[in-house]
Amino acid sequence: MKMKKIAILGSTGSIGTQTLEVVRANEDLTVTALAAGSNVELLDAQIREFRPSLVAIWSEEKAKELKERVKDLDVEVAVGMEGLLAVAQQPEAEILVTAIVGMIGIRPTIAGMKAGKDIALANKETLVTAGHLIMPLAESCGVRILPVDSEHSAIFQCLNGESSKELHKILLTASGGPFRGKKKEELRGVQPSDALKHPNWSMGKKITIDSATLVNKGLEMMEARWLFGVEPENIQIVVQPKSIVHSMVEFTDGAVIAQLGTPDMKLPIQYALCYPKRRPLPGERLDFSRITEITFERPDLESFPGLQLAFDAAAAGGSLPTVYNAANERAVAWFLDHKIGFLDIPDLIGRCMEAHKVIANPSVEEILETEAETYALMENMRF
Ligand code: NAD
Ligand code: MG
Repeated sequence: MKMKKIAILGSTGSIGTQTLEVVRANEDLTVTALAAGSNVELLDAQIREFRPSLVAIWSEEKAKELKERVKDLDVEVAVGMEGLLAVAQQPEAEILVTAIVGMIGIRPTIAGMKAGKDIALANKETLVTAGHLIMPLAESCGVRILPVDSEHSAIFQCLNGESSKELHKILLTASGGPFRGKKKEELRGVQPSDALKHPNWSMGKKITIDSATLVNKGLEMMEARWLFGVEPENIQIVVQPKSIVHSMVEFTDGAVIAQLGTPDMKLPIQYALCYPKRRPLPGERLDFSRITEITFERPDLESFPGLQLAFDAAAAGGSLPTVYNAANERAVAWFLDHKIGFLDIPDLIGRCMEAHKVIANPSVEEILETEAETYALMENMRF
Protein backbone atom coordinates (compact mmCIF):
# COMPACT_ATOMS: atom_id res chain seq x y z
CA MET A 1 0.00 0.00 0.00
CA LYS A 2 1.30 3.45 -0.86
CA MET A 3 1.37 5.52 2.31
CA LYS A 4 0.73 9.26 2.33
CA LYS A 5 3.17 10.95 4.72
CA ILE A 6 1.90 13.85 6.76
CA ALA A 7 3.54 16.55 8.89
CA ILE A 8 1.35 18.57 11.27
CA LEU A 9 2.03 22.02 12.72
CA GLY A 10 -0.16 22.38 15.82
CA SER A 11 -0.86 18.70 16.50
CA THR A 12 -2.21 19.20 20.04
CA GLY A 13 -4.94 21.69 19.10
CA SER A 14 -8.49 21.29 17.87
CA ILE A 15 -7.63 20.81 14.18
CA GLY A 16 -4.40 18.94 15.00
CA THR A 17 -6.10 16.30 17.15
CA GLN A 18 -8.92 15.86 14.63
CA THR A 19 -6.32 15.45 11.88
CA LEU A 20 -4.78 12.64 13.93
CA GLU A 21 -8.24 11.05 14.27
CA VAL A 22 -8.50 11.04 10.49
CA VAL A 23 -5.01 9.52 10.21
CA ARG A 24 -5.99 6.85 12.75
CA ALA A 25 -9.04 5.90 10.66
CA ASN A 26 -7.24 5.71 7.29
CA GLU A 27 -4.61 3.01 7.08
CA ASP A 28 -2.79 4.58 4.12
CA LEU A 29 -2.14 7.84 6.02
CA THR A 30 0.91 8.09 8.26
CA VAL A 31 2.46 10.86 10.34
CA THR A 32 6.16 11.66 9.96
CA ALA A 33 6.50 14.94 11.91
CA LEU A 34 4.57 16.86 14.57
CA ALA A 35 4.90 20.33 16.09
CA ALA A 36 3.11 21.83 19.09
CA GLY A 37 3.32 24.75 21.49
CA SER A 38 3.69 23.47 25.03
CA ASN A 39 1.41 20.52 25.79
CA VAL A 40 4.12 17.90 26.47
CA GLU A 41 1.78 15.30 27.95
CA LEU A 42 -0.36 15.14 24.82
CA LEU A 43 2.60 15.44 22.46
CA ASP A 44 4.31 12.57 24.27
CA ALA A 45 1.18 10.41 23.84
CA GLN A 46 0.95 11.37 20.15
CA ILE A 47 4.61 10.46 19.59
CA ARG A 48 4.05 7.05 21.17
CA GLU A 49 0.98 6.34 19.08
CA PHE A 50 2.01 7.76 15.70
CA ARG A 51 5.82 7.33 15.85
CA PRO A 52 6.95 10.43 13.91
CA SER A 53 10.72 10.66 13.34
CA LEU A 54 10.75 14.42 14.11
CA VAL A 55 8.84 16.58 16.59
CA ALA A 56 9.08 20.25 17.43
CA ILE A 57 7.99 22.11 20.51
CA TRP A 58 7.85 25.89 20.81
CA SER A 59 8.61 26.23 24.48
CA GLU A 60 12.31 25.85 25.30
CA GLU A 61 11.53 24.95 28.88
CA LYS A 62 9.10 22.21 27.85
CA ALA A 63 11.59 20.89 25.28
CA LYS A 64 13.83 19.60 28.08
CA GLU A 65 10.93 17.77 29.65
CA LEU A 66 9.87 16.32 26.31
CA LYS A 67 13.39 15.08 25.50
CA GLU A 68 13.50 13.35 28.87
CA ARG A 69 10.08 11.77 28.37
CA VAL A 70 10.80 10.36 24.88
CA LYS A 71 14.45 9.36 25.35
CA ASP A 72 13.47 5.69 24.95
CA LEU A 73 12.20 6.42 21.41
CA ASP A 74 13.90 7.08 18.10
CA VAL A 75 12.63 10.62 17.61
CA GLU A 76 14.42 13.90 17.08
CA VAL A 77 13.18 16.83 19.18
CA ALA A 78 13.59 20.35 17.73
CA VAL A 79 12.71 23.65 19.39
CA GLY A 80 11.21 27.08 18.62
CA MET A 81 10.96 28.58 15.13
CA GLU A 82 13.83 26.37 14.01
CA GLY A 83 11.72 23.38 15.05
CA LEU A 84 8.64 24.61 13.19
CA LEU A 85 10.73 25.16 10.06
CA ALA A 86 12.31 21.71 10.36
CA VAL A 87 8.90 20.04 10.63
CA ALA A 88 7.58 22.09 7.70
CA GLN A 89 10.51 21.02 5.50
CA GLN A 90 10.96 17.45 6.71
CA PRO A 91 12.12 15.55 3.61
CA GLU A 92 9.89 12.50 4.21
CA ALA A 93 6.59 14.40 4.44
CA GLU A 94 4.44 14.98 1.36
CA ILE A 95 1.71 17.12 2.85
CA LEU A 96 1.91 19.73 5.59
CA VAL A 97 -1.17 20.39 7.73
CA THR A 98 -0.98 23.95 9.04
CA ALA A 99 -3.10 23.67 12.20
CA ILE A 100 -1.12 26.23 14.16
CA VAL A 101 -2.94 29.37 15.28
CA GLY A 102 -1.90 32.88 14.24
CA MET A 103 0.45 34.53 11.77
CA ILE A 104 3.39 32.69 13.31
CA GLY A 105 2.44 30.17 10.59
CA ILE A 106 3.73 32.36 7.75
CA ARG A 107 7.39 31.32 7.75
CA PRO A 108 6.81 27.58 8.24
CA THR A 109 4.11 27.54 5.54
CA ILE A 110 6.44 29.24 3.06
CA ALA A 111 9.28 26.89 4.03
CA GLY A 112 6.98 23.89 3.48
CA MET A 113 5.96 25.09 0.02
CA LYS A 114 9.55 25.76 -0.99
CA ALA A 115 10.38 22.21 0.09
CA GLY A 116 7.67 20.94 -2.27
CA LYS A 117 4.95 20.06 0.26
CA ASP A 118 1.27 20.34 -0.53
CA ILE A 119 -0.39 22.43 2.16
CA ALA A 120 -3.60 21.40 3.94
CA LEU A 121 -4.31 24.88 5.18
CA ALA A 122 -6.22 25.56 8.38
CA ASN A 123 -4.02 28.48 9.48
CA LYS A 124 -6.06 31.24 7.82
CA GLU A 125 -4.03 34.06 9.41
CA THR A 126 -1.17 33.19 7.04
CA LEU A 127 -3.29 33.69 3.94
CA VAL A 128 -4.92 36.84 5.31
CA THR A 129 -1.58 38.52 5.87
CA ALA A 130 0.58 36.97 3.13
CA GLY A 131 -1.90 35.64 0.54
CA HIS A 132 -0.37 37.83 -2.17
CA LEU A 133 2.93 35.97 -1.64
CA ILE A 134 1.61 32.49 -0.81
CA MET A 135 -0.64 31.97 -3.85
CA PRO A 136 1.98 32.79 -6.53
CA LEU A 137 4.56 30.82 -4.56
CA ALA A 138 2.33 27.73 -4.59
CA GLU A 139 2.13 28.10 -8.35
CA SER A 140 5.88 28.49 -8.83
CA CYS A 141 6.68 25.64 -6.42
CA GLY A 142 4.09 23.39 -8.08
CA VAL A 143 2.34 22.62 -4.78
CA ARG A 144 -1.34 22.56 -3.94
CA ILE A 145 -3.10 24.54 -1.25
CA LEU A 146 -5.99 22.44 -0.01
CA PRO A 147 -8.41 24.29 2.25
CA VAL A 148 -9.29 22.81 5.65
CA ASP A 149 -11.51 25.64 6.87
CA SER A 150 -15.05 24.24 6.48
CA GLU A 151 -16.40 27.13 4.39
CA HIS A 152 -13.41 27.08 2.06
CA SER A 153 -13.54 23.33 1.73
CA ALA A 154 -17.22 23.74 0.84
CA ILE A 155 -16.39 26.30 -1.86
CA PHE A 156 -13.56 24.08 -3.12
CA GLN A 157 -15.99 21.15 -3.34
CA CYS A 158 -18.60 23.31 -5.13
CA LEU A 159 -15.99 24.35 -7.69
CA ASN A 160 -14.95 20.77 -8.46
CA GLY A 161 -14.99 20.30 -12.21
CA GLU A 162 -16.07 23.89 -12.86
CA SER A 163 -14.10 26.63 -14.56
CA SER A 164 -13.13 29.40 -12.15
CA LYS A 165 -13.74 31.87 -14.99
CA GLU A 166 -17.44 31.12 -14.67
CA LEU A 167 -17.51 31.79 -10.92
CA HIS A 168 -19.51 34.95 -10.32
CA LYS A 169 -19.57 35.19 -6.56
CA ILE A 170 -18.98 33.39 -3.30
CA LEU A 171 -21.67 33.13 -0.64
CA LEU A 172 -19.70 32.61 2.55
CA THR A 173 -21.92 31.31 5.33
CA ALA A 174 -21.60 32.25 9.01
CA SER A 175 -23.35 30.89 12.08
CA GLY A 176 -23.49 34.37 13.59
CA GLY A 177 -21.79 33.07 16.73
CA PRO A 178 -23.10 32.99 20.30
CA PHE A 179 -24.23 36.65 20.25
CA ARG A 180 -26.29 36.60 17.07
CA GLY A 181 -29.28 38.91 17.45
CA LYS A 182 -27.73 40.97 20.26
CA LYS A 183 -27.43 44.73 20.04
CA LYS A 184 -24.12 46.49 20.62
CA GLU A 185 -25.10 47.71 24.10
CA GLU A 186 -25.85 44.16 25.20
CA LEU A 187 -22.33 43.11 24.19
CA ARG A 188 -20.51 45.60 26.38
CA GLY A 189 -20.25 43.42 29.47
CA VAL A 190 -19.90 39.96 27.93
CA GLN A 191 -17.21 37.77 29.46
CA PRO A 192 -14.75 35.36 27.82
CA SER A 193 -16.78 32.46 29.25
CA ASP A 194 -19.89 33.73 27.37
CA ALA A 195 -17.96 34.27 24.16
CA LEU A 196 -16.39 30.79 24.36
CA LYS A 197 -19.79 29.08 24.04
CA HIS A 198 -20.10 28.54 20.30
CA PRO A 199 -23.52 27.24 19.25
CA ASN A 200 -22.35 24.68 16.63
CA TRP A 201 -18.60 24.12 16.56
CA SER A 202 -16.04 23.11 19.18
CA MET A 203 -12.75 24.87 18.33
CA GLY A 204 -9.63 26.47 19.83
CA LYS A 205 -10.13 29.56 22.00
CA LYS A 206 -8.84 32.18 19.59
CA ILE A 207 -11.08 31.18 16.67
CA THR A 208 -14.03 30.80 19.04
CA ILE A 209 -13.65 34.43 20.15
CA ASP A 210 -13.18 35.41 16.49
CA SER A 211 -16.50 33.70 15.74
CA ALA A 212 -18.20 35.71 18.48
CA THR A 213 -16.89 39.06 17.10
CA LEU A 214 -17.44 37.94 13.46
CA VAL A 215 -13.77 38.75 12.89
CA ASN A 216 -13.46 35.08 11.91
CA LYS A 217 -15.79 35.72 8.98
CA GLY A 218 -13.73 38.77 8.05
CA LEU A 219 -10.56 36.66 8.08
CA GLU A 220 -12.37 33.97 6.07
CA MET A 221 -13.47 36.51 3.46
CA MET A 222 -9.80 37.45 2.94
CA GLU A 223 -8.82 33.77 2.99
CA ALA A 224 -11.42 33.06 0.26
CA ARG A 225 -10.26 36.00 -1.77
CA TRP A 226 -6.79 34.53 -2.11
CA LEU A 227 -7.76 30.87 -2.40
CA PHE A 228 -10.31 31.39 -5.15
CA GLY A 229 -9.12 34.62 -6.78
CA VAL A 230 -12.37 36.49 -6.13
CA GLU A 231 -12.58 40.22 -5.35
CA PRO A 232 -13.89 41.04 -1.85
CA GLU A 233 -16.96 42.79 -3.31
CA ASN A 234 -17.92 39.46 -4.87
CA ILE A 235 -17.90 37.69 -1.52
CA GLN A 236 -21.20 37.97 0.32
CA ILE A 237 -21.51 36.97 3.96
CA VAL A 238 -24.71 35.06 4.66
CA VAL A 239 -25.74 34.15 8.20
CA GLN A 240 -27.12 30.60 8.38
CA PRO A 241 -27.47 29.97 12.09
CA LYS A 242 -27.41 26.16 12.22
CA SER A 243 -24.22 25.71 10.14
CA ILE A 244 -25.83 23.20 7.77
CA VAL A 245 -24.90 25.04 4.56
CA HIS A 246 -21.12 25.30 4.75
CA SER A 247 -20.92 27.81 1.86
CA MET A 248 -22.16 28.33 -1.68
CA VAL A 249 -20.96 29.60 -5.05
CA GLU A 250 -22.92 31.43 -7.73
CA PHE A 251 -21.92 31.01 -11.36
CA THR A 252 -22.24 33.49 -14.22
CA ASP A 253 -25.53 31.91 -15.32
CA GLY A 254 -27.05 32.43 -11.85
CA ALA A 255 -26.85 28.79 -10.76
CA VAL A 256 -25.98 28.43 -7.07
CA ILE A 257 -24.24 25.31 -5.77
CA ALA A 258 -23.92 24.64 -2.05
CA GLN A 259 -22.20 22.04 0.14
CA LEU A 260 -24.16 20.85 3.16
CA GLY A 261 -23.30 18.60 6.07
CA THR A 262 -23.20 18.22 9.83
CA PRO A 263 -20.68 20.49 11.59
CA ASP A 264 -17.73 18.07 11.70
CA MET A 265 -14.24 19.34 10.84
CA LYS A 266 -13.10 15.80 10.10
CA LEU A 267 -14.86 16.00 6.74
CA PRO A 268 -12.87 18.97 5.37
CA ILE A 269 -9.68 17.61 6.98
CA GLN A 270 -10.12 14.19 5.37
CA TYR A 271 -11.10 15.74 2.04
CA ALA A 272 -7.89 17.80 2.05
CA LEU A 273 -5.72 14.81 3.01
CA CYS A 274 -7.28 12.38 0.51
CA TYR A 275 -8.12 14.83 -2.29
CA PRO A 276 -9.42 14.21 -4.92
CA LYS A 277 -10.84 11.02 -3.38
CA ARG A 278 -13.75 10.83 -0.96
CA ARG A 279 -13.60 8.26 1.81
CA PRO A 280 -16.26 6.91 4.17
CA LEU A 281 -16.47 8.97 7.36
CA PRO A 282 -18.36 7.67 10.38
CA GLY A 283 -20.50 10.05 12.40
CA GLU A 284 -23.83 11.75 12.25
CA ARG A 285 -25.40 12.51 8.86
CA LEU A 286 -27.89 15.18 7.90
CA ASP A 287 -31.40 13.81 8.26
CA PHE A 288 -33.70 15.70 5.90
CA SER A 289 -36.76 14.11 7.44
CA ARG A 290 -35.92 16.13 10.58
CA ILE A 291 -34.61 19.41 9.17
CA THR A 292 -37.72 21.54 8.79
CA GLU A 293 -36.07 24.76 7.66
CA ILE A 294 -32.79 26.37 6.72
CA THR A 295 -32.87 30.11 7.33
CA PHE A 296 -30.64 32.94 6.10
CA GLU A 297 -30.01 36.40 7.53
CA ARG A 298 -27.87 39.40 6.81
CA PRO A 299 -24.93 39.95 9.18
CA ASP A 300 -25.36 42.79 11.68
CA LEU A 301 -22.45 45.13 10.94
CA GLU A 302 -23.57 47.59 13.66
CA SER A 303 -23.19 45.12 16.50
CA PHE A 304 -20.20 43.40 14.91
CA PRO A 305 -18.04 46.16 13.39
CA GLY A 306 -15.08 43.76 13.16
CA LEU A 307 -16.62 42.31 10.00
CA GLN A 308 -16.90 45.68 8.25
CA LEU A 309 -13.28 46.46 9.21
CA ALA A 310 -12.20 43.29 7.38
CA PHE A 311 -13.82 44.55 4.17
CA ASP A 312 -12.07 47.91 4.70
CA ALA A 313 -8.74 46.15 5.22
CA ALA A 314 -9.25 43.98 2.13
CA ALA A 315 -10.20 46.98 -0.02
CA ALA A 316 -7.03 48.87 0.96
CA GLY A 317 -4.96 45.66 0.76
CA GLY A 318 -1.16 45.70 1.14
CA SER A 319 -0.14 45.64 4.79
CA LEU A 320 -3.56 46.64 6.18
CA PRO A 321 -4.88 43.07 6.50
CA THR A 322 -1.76 42.36 8.59
CA VAL A 323 -2.67 45.23 10.92
CA TYR A 324 -6.24 43.93 11.11
CA ASN A 325 -5.03 40.44 11.92
CA ALA A 326 -2.23 41.36 14.34
CA ALA A 327 -4.40 43.82 16.28
CA ASN A 328 -7.04 41.14 16.55
CA GLU A 329 -4.60 38.45 17.71
CA ARG A 330 -3.32 40.70 20.50
CA ALA A 331 -6.77 42.03 21.44
CA VAL A 332 -8.20 38.51 21.67
CA ALA A 333 -5.35 37.45 23.97
CA TRP A 334 -6.05 40.49 26.19
CA PHE A 335 -9.79 39.79 26.19
CA LEU A 336 -9.17 36.17 27.22
CA ASP A 337 -6.96 37.53 30.04
CA HIS A 338 -9.79 39.84 31.18
CA LYS A 339 -7.66 42.89 30.38
CA ILE A 340 -10.09 44.47 27.92
CA GLY A 341 -13.79 44.20 27.13
CA PHE A 342 -15.46 42.46 24.19
CA LEU A 343 -16.19 45.67 22.25
CA ASP A 344 -12.59 46.82 22.72
CA ILE A 345 -11.54 44.10 20.25
CA PRO A 346 -13.00 45.78 17.11
CA ASP A 347 -12.27 49.17 18.61
CA LEU A 348 -8.54 48.42 18.91
CA ILE A 349 -8.45 46.89 15.43
CA GLY A 350 -10.05 50.02 13.97
CA ARG A 351 -7.68 52.35 15.79
CA CYS A 352 -4.62 50.40 14.67
CA MET A 353 -5.85 50.41 11.08
CA GLU A 354 -6.40 54.16 11.18
CA ALA A 355 -2.90 54.80 12.50
CA HIS A 356 -1.20 52.66 9.84
CA LYS A 357 0.45 53.88 6.69
CA VAL A 358 -0.24 51.14 4.14
CA ILE A 359 2.67 49.39 2.42
CA ALA A 360 1.63 48.01 -0.97
CA ASN A 361 2.75 44.45 -1.71
CA PRO A 362 4.64 43.88 1.57
CA SER A 363 7.44 41.29 1.74
CA VAL A 364 7.51 38.69 4.53
CA GLU A 365 9.90 40.96 6.46
CA GLU A 366 7.57 43.94 6.04
CA ILE A 367 4.61 41.85 7.16
CA LEU A 368 6.47 40.76 10.30
CA GLU A 369 7.61 44.36 10.93
CA THR A 370 4.03 45.56 10.54
CA GLU A 371 2.95 42.93 13.06
CA ALA A 372 5.59 44.11 15.57
CA GLU A 373 4.68 47.78 15.01
CA THR A 374 1.02 47.01 15.59
CA TYR A 375 1.80 45.28 18.88
CA ALA A 376 4.02 48.22 19.95
CA LEU A 377 1.29 50.70 19.09
CA MET A 378 -1.23 48.71 21.10
CA GLU A 379 0.93 48.85 24.22
CA ASN A 380 0.27 52.61 24.29
CA MET A 381 -3.44 52.12 23.73
CA ARG A 382 -4.00 50.01 26.83
CA PHE A 383 -6.46 51.23 29.32
P1 NAD B 1 -5.91 25.51 18.91
O1 NAD B 1 -5.61 26.64 19.79
O2 NAD B 1 -6.87 24.47 19.36
O3 NAD B 1 -4.55 24.76 18.50
C1 NAD B 1 -3.41 25.45 18.06
C2 NAD B 1 -2.24 24.49 17.94
O4 NAD B 1 -1.09 25.25 17.56
C3 NAD B 1 -1.88 23.78 19.25
O5 NAD B 1 -1.38 22.51 18.96
C4 NAD B 1 -0.74 24.66 19.79
O6 NAD B 1 0.13 23.96 20.64
C5 NAD B 1 -0.05 25.03 18.51
N1 NAD B 1 0.74 26.24 18.62
C6 NAD B 1 0.32 27.49 18.95
N2 NAD B 1 1.36 28.35 18.96
C7 NAD B 1 2.45 27.61 18.61
C8 NAD B 1 3.81 27.92 18.43
N3 NAD B 1 4.29 29.15 18.63
N4 NAD B 1 4.65 26.92 18.07
C9 NAD B 1 4.19 25.67 17.86
N5 NAD B 1 2.91 25.32 18.01
C10 NAD B 1 2.06 26.29 18.39
O7 NAD B 1 -6.39 26.14 17.51
P2 NAD B 1 -7.37 25.51 16.42
O8 NAD B 1 -8.77 25.85 16.76
O9 NAD B 1 -7.00 24.11 16.13
O10 NAD B 1 -7.00 26.43 15.16
C11 NAD B 1 -5.83 26.26 14.41
C12 NAD B 1 -5.95 27.04 13.11
O11 NAD B 1 -7.02 26.46 12.35
C13 NAD B 1 -6.33 28.51 13.31
O12 NAD B 1 -5.72 29.27 12.33
C14 NAD B 1 -7.83 28.52 13.11
O13 NAD B 1 -8.31 29.76 12.65
C15 NAD B 1 -8.01 27.45 12.05
N6 NAD B 1 -9.32 26.79 12.03
C16 NAD B 1 -9.75 26.09 13.09
C17 NAD B 1 -11.00 25.47 13.07
C18 NAD B 1 -11.47 24.65 14.23
O14 NAD B 1 -12.53 23.99 14.12
N7 NAD B 1 -10.79 24.59 15.34
C19 NAD B 1 -11.81 25.60 11.95
C20 NAD B 1 -11.32 26.32 10.87
C21 NAD B 1 -10.08 26.90 10.90
MG1 MG C 1 -14.54 28.41 9.10
